[in-house]
Amino acid sequence: MLILGLETSCDDTGVGIVDARREIRADIVASQLAAHRPYGGVVPEIAARAHLEVIEEVVPSALQQAGIGFSDLSAIAATTGPGLIGGVMVGAMMGKAIAAVRRLPFISVNHLEAHALTARLTHDVAFPYLLLLASGGHCQLLLVKGVGAYRLLGRTIDDAVGECFDKCAKMLGLGYPGGPLIEQAAQKGTPKAFALPRPMLGRKGCDFSFSGLKTAVRTLIAGRELSPAFVADMAASLQAAIADSIADRARHAFALLETEGVGVTAFVAGGGVAANQTLCARLTAIASENNVVFAAPAPRLCTDNGVMVAWAGVERFRLGLVDGFDVPARPRWPLEETGAVS
Ligand code: AMP
Ligand code: MG
Repeated sequence: MLILGLETSCDDTGVGIVDARREIRADIVASQLAAHRPYGGVVPEIAARAHLEVIEEVVPSALQQAGIGFSDLSAIAATTGPGLIGGVMVGAMMGKAIAAVRRLPFISVNHLEAHALTARLTHDVAFPYLLLLASGGHCQLLLVKGVGAYRLLGRTIDDAVGECFDKCAKMLGLGYPGGPLIEQAAQKGTPKAFALPRPMLGRKGCDFSFSGLKTAVRTLIAGRELSPAFVADMAASLQAAIADSIADRARHAFALLETEGVGVTAFVAGGGVAANQTLCARLTAIASENNVVFAAPAPRLCTDNGVMVAWAGVERFRLGLVDGFDVPARPRWPLEETGAVS
């Protein structure tokens, strides 16, 4: 079984080819970072055009990398949401067009499901597991019970965690995207330098909040000279506050599952923010407190890519879950509404 996956929901044009033996046969990501950098964030209109410009080139490149032709593929998978609708439409239409012309089954993939299932490709994790999905657009804790079976335990009530990293990095003059730059700057700083709030700490449930943290950073920065030492200390303090806040929420999720008698096999992290090593160290400790393993895909597979969509395609295809060409592109598509039966 060989599945080609297309990812175009944000600012990366990703094409991946994966087989059922968990082998990655092709992995191509055309990043639009340079086009969005001057604006300090993703501009939807620019993103849609940029996907359109490269998608016809990256598909044949992926086939070449895998050393195969269209006729060797078993099915085409594409992200059909959630995301920036212009980009989603580009990938979904391309996927449907290839499937129609080559008479291949089409598999509609929820972008969040692709993130959620990646650890099964990289670490062979078994269901059920606890998932932290932390990216530029999302921050959620989910119980992953099976393909298409997700239970939301908590989500951010305001900003996504990646957004918090990105906005604070911008205030600190670090550039975009902010997460990796904050992590880098933090290496030279002191995490206790600034007493930033720990949003939601100790609060009932598993929801997140990051907008207060962003405001606190803004207040502390106001009128200050952004010297390298100041920036490093602020980056380290911010990273520590985020890690503390997420760690607390994760502990609450484990406690909730324990009260309900739900056992999990692993604690998995996905999404771009899961590339953060300080955060991963904390999550590893929480997993071991709860006697389960921690698994996070390699950073390249944590950020948006086509491989994760191809893998979600493999998971769906082997359950016989294929879709018609009438599936819509959706800007909003909560994971809990991603049924196993489509
Ligand atoms: P995604 O939305 O999954 O493509 O991930 C992109 C988000 O992940 C952006 O908000 C980045 O700032 C963030 N990110 C990437 N690498 C890191 C890192 N090392 N630490 C924290 N955030 C990161
Ligand atoms: Mg993503």
